[in-house]
Amino acid sequence: MNPATRRAARHLLRKPPLKPHRWSSTSTSPSTSTFDARKWSTPLAQTLANAIKVTGPIPIAAFMRQVLTNPEGGYYTTRPNGEGEVFGRKGDFVTSPEISQVFGELVGIWAIAEWMAQGRKRSGVQLIEVGPGKGTLMDDMLRTFRNFKSFTSSLEAIYLVEASATLREVQKRLLCGDANMEETDVGYRSTSKYFDVPVVWVEDIRLLPHEEDKTPFIFAHEFFDALPIHAFESIPPSPENQPQQEQKEIMTPTGPAKLHQPLKAANTPQWRELMVTLNPAAVEDNLEGESEFKLTLAKASTPSSLVIPEISARYRALKSQAGSAIEISPESRIYAADFARRIGGASQPPRTTGAAAAPVAKSTPSGAALIMDYGTLDTIPINSLRGIREHRTVPALSAPGQVDVSADVDFTALAEAALEGSEGVEVHGPVEQGDFLQALGITERMEQILKKVGDEEKRRTLETGWKRLVEKGGGGMGKIYKVMTIIPENDGKRRPVGFGGGIVAP
Ligand code: SAH
Repeated sequence: MNPATRRAARHLLRKPPLKPHRWSSTSTSPSTSTFDARKWSTPLAQTLANAIKVTGPIPIAAFMRQVLTNPEGGYYTTRPNGEGEVFGRKGDFVTSPEISQVFGELVGIWAIAEWMAQGRKRSGVQLIEVGPGKGTLMDDMLRTFRNFKSFTSSLEAIYLVEASATLREVQKRLLCGDANMEETDVGYRSTSKYFDVPVVWVEDIRLLPHEEDKTPFIFAHEFFDALPIHAFESIPPSPENQPQQEQKEIMTPTGPAKLHQPLKAANTPQWRELMVTLNPAAVEDNLEGESEFKLTLAKASTPSSLVIPEISARYRALKSQAGSAIEISPESRIYAADFARRIGGASQPPRTTGAAAAPVAKSTPSGAALIMDYGTLDTIPINSLRGIREHRTVPALSAPGQVDVSADVDFTALAEAALEGSEGVEVHGPVEQGDFLQALGITERMEQILKKVGDEEKRRTLETGWKRLVEKGGGGMGKIYKVMTIIPENDGKRRPVGFGGGIVAP
């Protein structure tokens, strides 16, 4: 949003509503004086509260989008403070690339192995990372690539998809050093400090053109868990629709009349969306310790509840069982399908008109996507929205913009979207991170590194770091985190490294 639009939006949000929205059937809207005088937990809490007061409850997806990436007050957009305070021991959470450089090195080796297995393309290789955080994963990969000259000479560009201007600056400093950064039509551009290759930033993957004959290697580490979700619950048919229902009498201007066709209510279970609304206990009654926002089930269908759960047979199958709950991230599906089309080409040839940025058919699928995140192996996530602050779980709806909000990744949904997106790809995994890293030789690599480290304390830090990446119990990340890959369709004949395959001879 440009600054002028943003100002206009803010102005709109601040204007007192002409007719206050009734945001609960049992209570009227909060009295304007209590509402306006309230000391909100964060400025973004006030903005969101004003919006909800005007429009009524909002989908979780809208809330997530705002609290994570609103340019004024969003978590990723404003929290890092230039020092990347989000990540690491002093931040709110720590991610695998931040724990040990070995993580990025092995992911780099994986990409090289995949590039070799696909016949070592000599040109047109792209590196694309979505949600690069501090840029550590990409930096560790690039350092590793320096040992593979024929790979680096095939590199055409590095693309980083990043919604946060603050983190973009952090990434630029790490990956490009003092090189100039210039604004382009779609984002920003600088040059890698390692090789003479452009580094290009965009805010959304849809801004990157799809071109034929490119070989994209796409990385997503703890990105999908930050993409907005919608949550739905299936509710039983309305009792008013039962056959014994009596005809209703209503009063009309000309006297009482029988309702010939009572309003028809659903006679099968229906999806209802879980919405974010104001919590009267906090904003009206000012009760100590109450959160300003709470979840509430929409009283009627919303556009999302009518459309989104219809997009897959997995969700449709649950609708008829009243009480089912599901979480769906349409944006995640868009990203997974986009990855697939870049690798496998679009299944449909581009339409002739207005198709400048549309995916193109590819003569030979090439490239790969590696998706690393926490989430479910094959079940649809439920109740997984969580807030993290200073390494602790906190209510997801508290202190908007100061708390990291995320949800479990539905790997099966990503696989489904990728396969729907392109006929030219296949999906492997998800496998557990511990197994993936072991297959890539993490133990041997660590032994090599540790041999050269004399300092006892440094050895201990390195050792606890890499064990945390692979261990499956306690605080280990080896089991909860999963890895999935999208590669060119191959009839399942070649398994990529870490997914049952070995490294081909160099
Ligand atoms: N990959 C890094 C950072 C993970 S945090 C690591 O593992 O350490 C999530 C990253 O995605 C951040 O860089 C955040 O700014 C970015 N991000 C979150 N939502 C986004 C969105 N909707 N579009 C683009 N980037 C987003």
